[in-house]
Amino acid sequence: MRDIAHFVNGHTLTGTSGRFGDVFNPNTGEVQARVQFATDAELDAAVQVAAKAQIGWAATNPQRRARVMFEFKRLIERDMNSLAEILSSEHGKVIADSKGDIQRGLEVIEFACGIPHILKGEYTEGAGPGIDVYSMRQPLGVCAGITPFNFPAMIPMWMFGISIAVGNSFILKPSEKDPTVPVKLAELMMEAGAPAGVLNVIHGDKSAVDAILTHPLIRAVSFVGSSDIAHYVYQTGTAHGKRVQAMGGAKNHGIVLPDADMDQVVKDLSGAAFGSAGERCMALPVVVPVGKNTADELRERMVAEIASLKVGVSTDADAHYGPVVSSQHRAKIADYIRIGQEEGAELVVDGRDFQLQGFEKGFFIGPSLFDGVKKGMKTYQEEIFGPVLQIVRAESFEEAVALPSEHQYGNGVAIFTRNGRAAREFAASVNVGMVGINVPIPVPVAYHTFGGWKRSAFGDTNQHGVEGVKFYTKVKTVTARWPEGEVGDSSFVIPTMK
Ligand code: NAD
Repeated sequence: MRDIAHFVNGHTLTGTSGRFGDVFNPNTGEVQARVQFATDAELDAAVQVAAKAQIGWAATNPQRRARVMFEFKRLIERDMNSLAEILSSEHGKVIADSKGDIQRGLEVIEFACGIPHILKGEYTEGAGPGIDVYSMRQPLGVCAGITPFNFPAMIPMWMFGISIAVGNSFILKPSEKDPTVPVKLAELMMEAGAPAGVLNVIHGDKSAVDAILTHPLIRAVSFVGSSDIAHYVYQTGTAHGKRVQAMGGAKNHGIVLPDADMDQVVKDLSGAAFGSAGERCMALPVVVPVGKNTADELRERMVAEIASLKVGVSTDADAHYGPVVSSQHRAKIADYIRIGQEEGAELVVDGRDFQLQGFEKGFFIGPSLFDGVKKGMKTYQEEIFGPVLQIVRAESFEEAVALPSEHQYGNGVAIFTRNGRAAREFAASVNVGMVGINVPIPVPVAYHTFGGWKRSAFGDTNQHGVEGVKFYTKVKTVTARWPEGEVGDSSFVIPTMK
């Protein structure tokens, strides 16, 4: 059995805890490797190494740090195919989607290549007589990232890309379900020229997370995962004096107005609800058609669209999506489908019996469609995170906007319409962090910023873009006076500008 070890100080660090997690191949259902879980002492060793490395790295001029980022990007592009294959074999998403996962992370690295410009700071000449004021952004020290299984390349790069570019060192604690690509990324960062210790990977479960949240030398923690754990990470990390951003779960709605281009809506919804087996925090698992005619037409066309979908192994280039990540997750999705029926929603398409010939032990589940889903239902309120699309019918625009606005999650939302005025009003008023207008998955580009509202994110700063730079730096402001002439009098009054 292959063991996946930690990566510390530029080398493999073999864990000693005797605790492991199974890493499955979701296509076959077989365990393909086991990942070592760190002890507190191993986490501490990584932090000590990172703290040492950070001093020299922060003193390296920003242009040189940017050159490492440029080279890292080149190396990932060189290894794109093999990285995507590994990613798919542990996660289950199809290869093209794994390439998308890597590419969206690389776009943050491209942003980080501009760090010399972004870090320039502000300057006021002549703020007073002989007085200049300038501010600079300085790195925090050692930062850490804790990431979910569903984007094992993109989300680590959101975090360490920015954190390292601004001069921090980093401890990454990736998901134990698909840990190989994160280790490869750290190896490539070394090959790109980052000094040993600047990027380290420590594997583990809650125990490793707790060790990170309580370690006195870790200054900031970025987390992405489910909401209850995000909330716990936020509370525990901040109670230990750390800066924390913790992104959580989601239940994104797609509002379909009667004037929408229905051909496009059906295609967009299909990709956004079922792509990656629905295991995306920016998936669209809820569709809200406005008016009976819109709902009836949408339902009929979605049924036909679903019949055309191909579920297959992640290496099948024709498959629209592959297996889900684990048998437990498959069972959880099937459970939600059962509960949905019990609470009175109409199960129009049932994907539970789907089996892929030759891969009967794989974690596959077919696409499902519910109609008549209501606000009070558990299956509407909670995140299913699987290939299940729920139709919630609304009578009016106002009723449709209220649904995502009042939902506990507020990650993403989309509206489909030809009416610019309605779209504009929707974008301005909806109580959700990321909005798509005729865009089903409104993940912002890397130089903007990613973050939901309500129980989809705890903390004040978003991921990547300028917000990411703010999260991983602290501002220092210098007021400098170079007086001319005689020594002035003491002043016992707070200085003001006359
Ligand atoms: P998860 O919450 O189970 O795990 C996330 C991380 O937390 C992993 O590294 C895991 O090892 C660690 N962890 C697990 N149990 C823990 C515990 N009890 N205490 C402390 N840490 C623990 O999430 P997941 O299943 O890997 O990922 C799916 C979830 O992530 C979904 O809810 C999805 O919506 C969310 N997600 C959110 C975003 C976003 O930006 N808002 C992006 C991607 C995924």
